[in-house]
Amino acid sequence: MKRTPRHPEPMDAGARRAIKPVICYPVDTLPLPDMNAYGAARETLELVQEAIVPPREARTFRVPAGFYFRIISVDGPQVGDLNIWAENDLSERFYSGKTRALHGTHLSTGDRMWSGFPHMRPMATITHDTLDWYGFDADGGSVHDVIGTRCDPYTNRLLSGQDYHHCCHSNLTRALAAETGLPLHQAEAHVHDVLNVFMCTGFTHDTHQYFMKASPVRPGDYLECFAEIDLLGALSTCPGGDCSTVHSSDAAACYPLKVEIHRPDPQALAGWVPPAPSAYSRSHGK
Ligand SMILES: [Zn+2]
Repeated sequence: MKRTPRHPEPMDAGARRAIKPVICYPVDTLPLPDMNAYGAARETLELVQEAIVPPREARTFRVPAGFYFRIISVDGPQVGDLNIWAENDLSERFYSGKTRALHGTHLSTGDRMWSGFPHMRPMATITHDTLDWYGFDADGGSVHDVIGTRCDPYTNRLLSGQDYHHCCHSNLTRALAAETGLPLHQAEAHVHDVLNVFMCTGFTHDTHQYFMKASPVRPGDYLECFAEIDLLGALSTCPGGDCSTVHSSDAAACYPLKVEIHRPDPQALAGWVPPAPSAYSRSHGK
């Protein structure tokens, strides 16, 4: 946090601050998903599987490449913390930081969830978002952020001195351990920074601190993604509920979330192929 400065402003402080910013990663050359094709294919969807994630828990799900998955609000406003991995290689996983650098702080339709190095390819593309009307509010808040990391027992311990076992980090760890048979400590190492589905967040105007406010999600709202590669997903129903007041405790009202897997008519996606991993040589100049 920026506190009271100890150094006087230089004479040209105003001029230095007035320099116009440039976008770190111009996306003009980013290969764009064919949203028309994805849109046509989603008209043919057939529900093939569904699962309920109970409050303050997490569940895993598998999505074959070329299928769609939906995260759906049921019963009441609830935030979900999403992890995704390549189904057969847990080392390829969602890279929240680079996704943020490419698409901004909050995701919506047309944005993609990118995997980390050395794979660096789109793992999923957002194809429908019933909360896209929200935009950014007067506080600078919006939904589906890639800013926050996930609520976790370590930060909670640091700040409160208490142990709480149903933070999203622990929920995701237990769910991945149950799915893979890995011991908890090994599964934990694969849990990573999340996409905060439905969570409404931003940075305060004055101190630029990370804030949350009551999610605008209501039962029936959903976020839909197209699986670009075979995926293993894990979704945690955050103990913060709609994240209007507190998380990392049993205090908030929490609701389940539903995950649906949909299969499109393969004819509708003729010509689509899963994206290849990055073509970078990995020589690193040596
Ligand atoms: Zn959480």
